[in-house]
Amino acid sequence: MKGLVIKNTGSWYTVKADNGKIIESKIKGNFRLKGIRSTNPVAVGDRVELITNQEGTAFISAIEDRKNYIIRKASNLSKQSHILAANLDQAFLIVTISHPQTSTTFIDRFLAGAEAYRIPVVLVFNKHDVLDEDEVRYEGMMVNLYETIGYQCKVICAKTGEGVDELRKMLQGKITLFSGNSGVGKSTLINQLLPDAHLRTSEISEAHDAGMHTTTFSEMLEFPGGGYVIDTPGIKGFGTFDIEKEELTSYFKEIFEFSKDCKFSNCTHTHEPGCAVIRAVEDHYISASRYQSYLSMLEDKDENKYREAF
Ligand code: GDP
Ligand code: ZN
Repeated sequence: MKGLVIKNTGSWYTVKADNGKIIESKIKGNFRLKGIRSTNPVAVGDRVELITNQEGTAFISAIEDRKNYIIRKASNLSKQSHILAANLDQAFLIVTISHPQTSTTFIDRFLAGAEAYRIPVVLVFNKHDVLDEDEVRYEGMMVNLYETIGYQCKVICAKTGEGVDELRKMLQGKITLFSGNSGVGKSTLINQLLPDAHLRTSEISEAHDAGMHTTTFSEMLEFPGGGYVIDTPGIKGFGTFDIEKEELTSYFKEIFEFSKDCKFSNCTHTHEPGCAVIRAVEDHYISASRYQSYLSMLEDKDENKYREAF
């Protein structure tokens, strides 16, 4: 029997079998995944094979190849990591122009990380209702900037539900990660999309009461129309610690396009003569904020500060 892992409590995995049945499953003690050193071999989003037993539970006997996965490093010293979720189809990054203002550096770091993991991102601009005239203009500029680069943008108001129906359609049949700084309205939006989402908070606190580690608990919530949202506590972005300096350019789509015309193939676009990227920034083909974000990520790597986005 095959199915989808929808919840991981640390000891049990809840699997939704392809016939619709929910089966509590365990992994065999000697179960190991080749090539990945992680504290958990199975994660939400994994497609698994099950061997059921008489008690109505099952053993996970195999995991299908993942198309992607997101990890959290256990610590800076250890090479072990924790797999937070697998097989993401897309990420919604919820941002706000004010109350609170999401910085462009935060957005661009998230986008670069998502490019590295090859996960499409939709930028969701929430709290449109609180913006004054100038802020509405600024929001329009941001939407224009990111749409021009190639990212889908949606302006919504989670509180009133404006624009939420359109998002609901985009979630159907997909596994979606919701991310964003605290206070931008993620819970409000999920509550709009999932009328019974209040269940999840109580479930999580029950898990806490049982002395469970937040880091091992993860869950996907199923939408009535099909599709899942990953609701793992503490995912703010993708770990960008393992992106090499030389690779960084390719994760800023428009910078990458211009970099093809740089004089030197190993150009870092910081000072080199004949740099097509610097010229494009001066000519306003590349936005100053995007270039600043690129430089700030590059600088982190220079200083060997392998900062994670979590
Ligand atoms: P989270 O930390 O991202 O989960 O944010 P919450 O969903 O808890 O929202 C933070 C605050 O913003 C709450 O007081 C919400 O009522 C408020 N909020 C969320 N969405 C909107 C919106 O579209 N407009 C306005 N005015 N407030 C919102
Ligand atoms: Zn260059």
